[in-house]
Amino acid sequence: MNENISFYRFMHKQILVVIALFMGTGPGYIMMGALYGSVLVESAWFIFIIIVSLYGYKLYRDFSLFMTIEQKDFWLDRVRFFMFAYFSLWSIIFLVYVLKDNHNLHYIAIATQLGSAVVASTILASQKNLVIVTVITLILPITIYLLAVGEVYSYLIAFFTVVLSGVLLYAAKNTHDYLIKSRYQSYHDHLTGLGNRRYFLEILESSVKQNCNKYSYLLLIDLDYFKTINDTLGHDIGDELLIEVSKRMTKLAHENNNTAARLGGDEFCILSTSFETKDECLKAADSFSKELLRRIKANYIIDDHHLYISASIGISIMNKPILQAGTFLKEADMAMYEVKHSGRDGVILFSEELCEIVEKKLDIERMLHFAIERDEITLKYQPQVDKNKKVLGCEILVRWNNKELGNIGPATFIPIAENTGYIIELGAYILEESLKTIQEWSKKSMSLQQVSINISMRQLLHQNFIQIVTKLLEKYIDDECKIGIVFEITETSTADNLTSLIDVINTLKKYNITFSMDDFGTGYSSLSYLREIPIRELKVDQSFVAKLSGAKEASLVKTIVDISKNFSLITVAEGVEEEYQREYLMELGCDLYQGYLFSKPLTKEGFEDFFRFNMQ
Ligand code: C2E
Ligand code: CA
Ligand code: CA
Repeated sequence: MNENISFYRFMHKQILVVIALFMGTGPGYIMMGALYGSVLVESAWFIFIIIVSLYGYKLYRDFSLFMTIEQKDFWLDRVRFFMFAYFSLWSIIFLVYVLKDNHNLHYIAIATQLGSAVVASTILASQKNLVIVTVITLILPITIYLLAVGEVYSYLIAFFTVVLSGVLLYAAKNTHDYLIKSRYQSYHDHLTGLGNRRYFLEILESSVKQNCNKYSYLLLIDLDYFKTINDTLGHDIGDELLIEVSKRMTKLAHENNNTAARLGGDEFCILSTSFETKDECLKAADSFSKELLRRIKANYIIDDHHLYISASIGISIMNKPILQAGTFLKEADMAMYEVKHSGRDGVILFSEELCEIVEKKLDIERMLHFAIERDEITLKYQPQVDKNKKVLGCEILVRWNNKELGNIGPATFIPIAENTGYIIELGAYILEESLKTIQEWSKKSMSLQQVSINISMRQLLHQNFIQIVTKLLEKYIDDECKIGIVFEITETSTADNLTSLIDVINTLKKYNITFSMDDFGTGYSSLSYLREIPIRELKVDQSFVAKLSGAKEASLVKTIVDISKNFSLITVAEGVEEEYQREYLMELGCDLYQGYLFSKPLTKEGFEDFFRFNMQ
């Protein structure tokens, strides 16, 4: 719809230049006329000039990037008419006055006229038709006039004006072609043919300026896991998919009079037309984004591959004229970031609350980076007991206390660390501190069966993980140590990772490390998964234990424990807070129990005291 948008913007600016030129040279003609003409005729010329200039100004004001293509064409027709009227009036004034001139003043007029012709043609080079108009209305009268003078010099100049016209027309054509091409290239994405980032920022900027009292919505669309398609099927298929997605996007955008652009990579943007009320705009944004997501997610067939892709869409509503265009893009980006963090494949509208949440996350992200070096990370130890309440082990849980942010729970900062990659460093630190404790307890001959350490999937699948673990084991754990080390992992989804995961587990088995499946039942648990991954322990998620009073949950927990037993796994129940829960879990035959009923997570010294007291 807006392929020619930059051209219209260009014309829009040129009108101002032409008006200025006209207003500027007009008085010159008036003065010239004043020397020869009557006051009455002068006033008439003056009024003509004012009317044509005002018409030009109206055209300038009428322009909007949000006009439909028909409106824009109509506008351009009026621009042509304006230019024609403008040059014709100029020529008439010229011819009228230059003929009255007995003092060779007409040479000055000829020079001005030719000079203006060159200037005007250069400005208007992007429109061949307008150059033709310029040549006919400006240069032709001069040529005729010169021929009428009938002297040798005037024939000579007449000849030059004809040559000049030819050159102008030729140059205009080439410049026009070149401008159209280079303008197209600099504003469009070569792959999809959509407008590019530069193009989008420009229309966004002018939309913000123009729609002070109106509302528009801005969509930022990022495809989910596009990189995987690129990496596994190759860039050609990736490109084809991008083209297909952009076609679907453009079609829907056209249907709604919206403008789509590709910001780069797998990121797209859509800007809506304007709405009178916020409600209207919100409703339209909601239905448009849902429909867009639905169409993007429909099946693709590319080179015999059946592909599926979803998208994360952030929406921002534009209605604050004070703000810069970039602000809205940032807001949509924040909303999109939130979709990515809450599992992708969805739409989120930007709001102030969201801004707070995202900013807090960004604060955490920033501060977390220095947590280790500022010594803000500590470990807590939560006892795990058997059915006789005898302490057999503990789970190590990380804590972070920041001066500015206070205590931040691991459920908040671990996912952030996973997203930023800081988990690699943090995980290694936690592991080292945990092994130090185990070494200490082993030296103190604390007879613990096992100590569990939480390991993030990203940390576990990192290329250096095995190397780090073996090095730390060598450093802190000797043959004397009788305490078993358990790594707790949570279920993951992709089959890709499954083979690597199994490899890591098997390698570490040789170092007497066993694995526990944490939060069982909340993720992508499947029975084949349990069969394939060589784990030794299964943890019933605390959310099920918390709702044990319900019949459904009770039977669910029974099923989980049965499965665990069928696979000959050690069953751990966590989040045990009430006696009735413990009794029910005992009936089912759980092996280990962990929860506030026995103890909250304790400091190292706290755990040592708890252990000693428990032994008595
Ligand atoms: P998780 O592994 O499921 O840890 C159990 C969580 O339940 C802990 O929360 C623990 O304090 C809490 N909890 C234990 N007993 C009870 C109970 O009776 N009632 C209730 N309501 N809660 C109980 P915490 O320490 O906040 O840890 C939250 C999550 O953060 C952990 O869930 C784990 O996924 C992650 N996490 C904690 N420490 C680490 C770590 O060192 N590394 C990694 N990668 N993740 C960790
Ligand atoms: Ca755990
Ligand atoms: Ca858990």
